Amino acid sequence: MSVAAVRWLALLDVAVWLTTTSHRRDPQALGRSRIAFDALAAFEHTLTPSERRHAREIAWARDSPAPLPDERAWWGWCQCRSCQLARHLGTLVIVSPAPQRETPPTQPIPPTSTQQPHLEQGESLPC
Ligand SMILES: [Zn+2]
Repeated sequence: MSVAAVRWLALLDVAVWLTTTSHRRDPQALGRSRIAFDALAAFEHTLTPSERRHAREIAWARDSPAPLPDERAWWGWCQCRSCQLARHLGTLVIVSPAPQRETPPTQPIPPTSTQQPHLEQGESLPC
């Protein structure tokens, strides 16, 4: 069993244990469960698809007497909110985008119409 799978299973077990042993009307307990599932999702986001699949296969073998299901193509998918939303929208997730750097202009900026026209001595602007 890989280190990633062991950690994923531990985070899953804590999240499930907090959820199943907490009173449903206790907001602090619900908050702890949410934090635990957020930690699981954050860690899962760092795993490769094969690591996620491996961890889920171990959890299934440990927790279910049934053989592995045939349909488990999604077991390699990240289940964090960002990746779920990206799959739903059909887009790529960029979790921490690099800051955009402004490129300095390569040519002088042309004058705009708000600039004052050049007036010779004695000239004035039309009214
Ligand atoms: Zn993700």
